[in-house]
Amino acid sequence: MRDVSTVPDECIKMFDASIQEVNGKGPKKRKKSLEHICDKGQRAELNTSENEEKPAENGAKETVANDTVELLHWRDMPKHLQFNPYVLTGYRPLQDWSGCVRSLFYFHNETINIFTHGFSLVYILLVLPGLLPWSGGGGSAWFLSLCHLLGALAPWCGSFVYHLFMNHTSGAGLYHRLLQLDMLGIWVSQSIGAIPMVTATVYCAPALLRYTALVTYCLGSLLGLYKAMRAWSPWERRLCFAAPFCMRLVLAGARAAHLGGGDPHAILHVFLQDAVSLGGGIIGAMHVPEKWFPGAVDRCLNSHNIMHVLVVLAVYSMHQVTTLDLAWMSQVDCCTPLGQL
Ligand SMILES: [Zn+2]
Repeated sequence: MRDVSTVPDECIKMFDASIQEVNGKGPKKRKKSLEHICDKGQRAELNTSENEEKPAENGAKETVANDTVELLHWRDMPKHLQFNPYVLTGYRPLQDWSGCVRSLFYFHNETINIFTHGFSLVYILLVLPGLLPWSGGGGSAWFLSLCHLLGALAPWCGSFVYHLFMNHTSGAGLYHRLLQLDMLGIWVSQSIGAIPMVTATVYCAPALLRYTALVTYCLGSLLGLYKAMRAWSPWERRLCFAAPFCMRLVLAGARAAHLGGGDPHAILHVFLQDAVSLGGGIIGAMHVPEKWFPGAVDRCLNSHNIMHVLVVLAVYSMHQVTTLDLAWMSQVDCCTPLGQL
């Protein structure tokens, strides 16, 4: 792994300019001369490890030193993997499928992201199905339990695959497909995973209002999915979920004002499930704290790591709301005024 202190001054200047570009303060294009100086400066260093380079199966080169993969600097990465200019080191080189899988066994700047959601995937797969009331509370309990299981599993599946294989040698095309898979997982969690909460909130409402609310929520979610599959910037991707998010906010307000159904004891988690994931989305898009300490939190505690942990907490809140609401729906008497439920 190369260290920043060994990089020539010209390269540091060039990298500073890159950060300024991202902040909107620097020039739009890098000066080519700086790139050439940087290349020259790095060439000698690269030559020292030339003998250690071996071609991978598909022709891409993978640098190996003493049986370990040499991790790279941000500037060495292809454009599609330079999405966070404040994470400077710890990048895996481009690898084939088996190389990506083997990266599970050494520490790089995606390790925390892979494992936070990998462990969540295994834990929920093993534990959650046994906790859900599949056959209790009428025919809808089975469907709503399935919605919750899908919503609680989906974000980890997409995220795990995306972070593990993002550096595959297939390049930008495969990377964008993986990013779409990650977005699809978030969409399933946000949309399908919230259906039990939406159902409980309008459970005792007149039939017309109940079906209108559910159909509106589903259409808003589908619109979000359409936009998510076509979004390219981090902010665009997060705004895709604005419509279902706003509707959940209205329903949460109705529950807080005793105008909607659902277990009253779940109200804190009703707000937390969206507030925590919104906070995670904002932290991720703002690149905080690595924006303040570039290079200091490359492998641990950077914005994406924090966002991943917050997503786990948001799904925990969603689980609390869903289990309480499913139990509430199985025993509620809708003839009782909502304020007294
Ligand atoms: Zn992620």
